[in-house]
Amino acid sequence: MSRTAEVIVVGAGVVGSAIGAELAMLGHDVMIVEQGVPGAAVSGASLACIGSHMVDMEELPLLAWACDAWRTLDEEIGGFEYHPCGQLRFVLSEQELAAARAWIEVERNAGLDVKLLEPIEVQEVEPSLTGPIVAASWSKDDAVVNPFLAVRALLNRARDCGARLETHCRVDSLIERDGKIAGVRCATTDMSAEHVVLASGPWTTRLAASLGMNLPIRPHRAQCLATVRIPPSILRVVGACESGGGVEAGYTQIQQSRDGQVLFNTVLEDGLVDDGAQDRVPEVDAAFVRNSVEMLLFLFPDLWRVHLLRSWVRFEAVTPDNRFLIGPLGPEGLWVAAGDCGTGFTRAPAIARLIGQMLGGEHPAFDTTLYAPERFSCEHPASA
Ligand SMILES: Cc1cc2nc3c(=O)[nH]c(=O)nc-3n(C[C@H](O)[C@H](O)[C@H](O)COP(=O)(O)OP(=O)(O)OC[C@H]3O[C@@H](n4cnc5c(N)ncnc54)[C@H](O)[C@@H]3O)c2cc1C
Repeated sequence: MSRTAEVIVVGAGVVGSAIGAELAMLGHDVMIVEQGVPGAAVSGASLACIGSHMVDMEELPLLAWACDAWRTLDEEIGGFEYHPCGQLRFVLSEQELAAARAWIEVERNAGLDVKLLEPIEVQEVEPSLTGPIVAASWSKDDAVVNPFLAVRALLNRARDCGARLETHCRVDSLIERDGKIAGVRCATTDMSAEHVVLASGPWTTRLAASLGMNLPIRPHRAQCLATVRIPPSILRVVGACESGGGVEAGYTQIQQSRDGQVLFNTVLEDGLVDDGAQDRVPEVDAAFVRNSVEMLLFLFPDLWRVHLLRSWVRFEAVTPDNRFLIGPLGPEGLWVAAGDCGTGFTRAPAIARLIGQMLGGEHPAFDTTLYAPERFSCEHPASA
């Protein structure tokens, strides 16, 4: 395999895979380099709800476009269990109710098809949600995908358009020459490229540090729990009423996979950890399991007989403002697309579009100032 490409994308999570596909479709000569197995980091652990409800109004144009892009990808290639099941956000108090009403009003004014349901109406949409909730918002257009199959679909598209994929190959550092990126250094070889895109999740800080840059990304511990398979019981994505896109402590999301497992995720208070944690296989937090089971049974009391099967931990890449870093970084030809925010799966096609446009010198379709790496002082020594 040639060790030269026009563009090297580091990382084959959902973001790197989407970028690889986009750039290859635009005619670039692309190599995607993944240190392990595609999708095996946080992307494969994702609950992969595709939606824009209660995330961030400033980001709505990007999110809405991304939701459409997933729908189109399903029509064009499919094979990743795209299921437009809709999303409920349950409300547990009068205070949350006021917040939910405010969100719904703003989103409806922006054209989203969302509404507030009384508990009796909730049961028409999600019959087994019989817990004592005050209300729930309903966003009928939201969907779920199978995260591993979605990553695979994007990589297949990239390869169909000529991209190369190298797995089990860790990039150890970046190579810079005369103020421009020149390629990447792996354990046994150097690879040269005119452009390098860092889509490497919480590991991105280390690669940037190899050129003296200090990115404000920290690993954030995220956990999931799965039950044994049961007959169809939870029809929708059921999440807490929370306006941060699923990053605030206490946020819970519950859904049932196509093969019958009930999946849930609760965000814990002390998720931020030090760099290096993402390299280890951590133990699952007992408090997480307890909280998750309590919330599941509070909402779905009839599921009390269901057995837990497994629980696992992965690491998201969190920035101080919970927004991705997307754009040029340091030497000419270096790009970053990392950062997360709880809804990175939804965003992946839009992030890929932005990178494709910026790298090709086109005017970006969305407001890039929200994601500009220079909103933090992470500058390259040469340009500082
Ligand atoms: C429990 C949970 C539930 C979630 N639910 C949702 C949801 O419902 N909807 C939603 O939109 N989002 C959700 N998210 C968030 C979403 O999953 C992430 O934002 C998204 O998967 C991030 O993708 P990524 O490609 O940036 O990161 P990753 O998947 O971490 O990919 C980075 C890749 O880079 C590789 N890499 C790193 N360093 C190197 C190197 N030096 N050399 C080579 N390869 C390297 C890694 O091995 C990895 O494969 C959820 C996340 C979690 C944890």
